[in-house]
Amino acid sequence: MGFFTRLFVPRTVRRAVHPVRTVKRAVTPKPVKNLQRSLHPVSNFEYSVERSIATSLRSGGKRKATVYTHGNCTGRHRTPAAAARCRNR
Ligand SMILES: [Zn+2]
Repeated sequence: MGFFTRLFVPRTVRRAVHPVRTVKRAVTPKPVKNLQRSLHPVSNFEYSVERSIATSLRSGGKRKATVYTHGNCTGRHRTPAAAARCRNR
């Protein structure tokens, strides 16, 4: 749960620094907040990193890569060379 704590810590710090913005945050509806967050370049980058970590954890660390298939072969090859070398033709 390392990156969950990382999500919450900056928010708490910001609240302590800007009490006025906290009120603004509370009033802002959730979809708007999500939109603002996605437009923010830094948090957008942070989110993309966290999302990719979460995704790789969910899929057992395997990345979804491009695969090469050929003919009647049911195997999925990682390179076109591997597909060409394949015995299942
Ligand atoms: Zn093959």
